[in-house]
Amino acid sequence: MKRKRVVILGATGSIGDSALKVARDIPERMEIVGLAAHRNAAKLAVQANELRPEAVCIVAAAKLDELRANLHYTPRIFAGETGLCEIAALANAEMVLIAVVGTGGLRPALAAIEAGKDLAVASKEILVMAGEIVMKAAAARSVHVLPVDSEHNAIFQCLESGRCLSAPTAGGTSRGADAAPTLQGADVRRLILTASGGPFRETPADQFDSITVEQALKHPTWNMGPKITIDSATLFNKGLEMIEARWLFDVEMARVEVIVHPQSIVHSMVEFADGSVLAQLSYSDMCFPIQYAVTWPERVPNSLAPLDFGKLRQLNFAIPRYDDFPALNLARRAGEAGGTLPAVLNAANEIAVSAFLEKRITFPAIWRLVEQVMNRHACVADASLDAILAADQWARAEAESLARDQPR
Ligand code: NDP
Ligand code: MG
Repeated sequence: MKRKRVVILGATGSIGDSALKVARDIPERMEIVGLAAHRNAAKLAVQANELRPEAVCIVAAAKLDELRANLHYTPRIFAGETGLCEIAALANAEMVLIAVVGTGGLRPALAAIEAGKDLAVASKEILVMAGEIVMKAAAARSVHVLPVDSEHNAIFQCLESGRCLSAPTAGGTSRGADAAPTLQGADVRRLILTASGGPFRETPADQFDSITVEQALKHPTWNMGPKITIDSATLFNKGLEMIEARWLFDVEMARVEVIVHPQSIVHSMVEFADGSVLAQLSYSDMCFPIQYAVTWPERVPNSLAPLDFGKLRQLNFAIPRYDDFPALNLARRAGEAGGTLPAVLNAANEIAVSAFLEKRITFPAIWRLVEQVMNRHACVADASLDAILAADQWARAEAESLARDQPR
């Protein structure tokens, strides 16, 4: 049995915590060789002292002294955004888990690919922003991109089980260890992403204006970082995931659908050409998809709770309220247009979520603001990385200025 040597970017966040749990649970399969955070030096030091990775990185250079002071051993220490790219390319690492909130993980992801590391991607924003560029770079270097987002991990597992992934290349194992996770479109009718519906699944639209930050931060089924929790409440999370699926599995937007499933037990489904549907089920715990990304293509036992079907009672499904939650249609529009528009949607949403968390705008102003920025954007098709980064910066400035003008 082989231990996978993994670098975790975003170690101090919610996904980082779950990844560390997986490493403790299956130490014979996962070794952490690098840990990186933005500014939480104290927590990063605690994690490093426990797991003793050979390298650590803190992006906020002002926190470097605090990190050094709290470390009980002497790992290699990287700092700043450059340091994040350096630790992503660590010679001894085989896989880099990108769990940085927002788009800060894009350059390190490209650096990891360039260095030939497999990626486990939680940071959906980087695939929304530059999915085509990331996937092309990964294909060019023959590195694998393993989805960690629970829906995409589920779809990945369903596609594997439906034998829709391309055949193993020479030298691969009989289970296709070297198979690229790309979809052979003809066999697949639909990718069906499940959505919990968030805390306001049943809230009448005329009450949206009075939704508070505290209410929006209470997710009914998942325990996650603040940005993705707000995205789950607006359904932008599902919108971003539609575009993420489009790039991860190289499928057109028209074949990516969303169904509300309040229990978050079915993590997503694939409908095949013959009408059969495969689904992946588990309790809502990110340790499941993280572990599978790390041990893929193998499955190993762990201490996670198995489903108790006797206690589940029921699994419900419903069509999303598209008119009341415009994020899904905005994301479909961005995904269909392609080019720079998904980056604009993503960047405007990031600014709008921050403004809502800082109580500067109302809850429905989040999607109004995103739509306004999208409407003002002159989309560039076949966008280069530079064009995407420019559109991202433009959309942030535009969203900031609109947020300032919003009545509260
Ligand atoms: P959190 O807010 O809990 O954690 C974010 C992590 O990213 C922290 O470690 C933070 O460091 C670090 N970070 C923030 N900005 C930067 C930066 N500029 N450079 C380097 N590191 C940075 O987020 P989550 O763990 O919830 O989410 C992480 C990503 O995973 C998101 O893209 C999210 O969409 C995705 N995801 C999350 C799921 C979940 O269950 N939480 C499920 C599916 C996807 P510090 O603590 O020092 O600030
Ligand atoms: Mg998800």
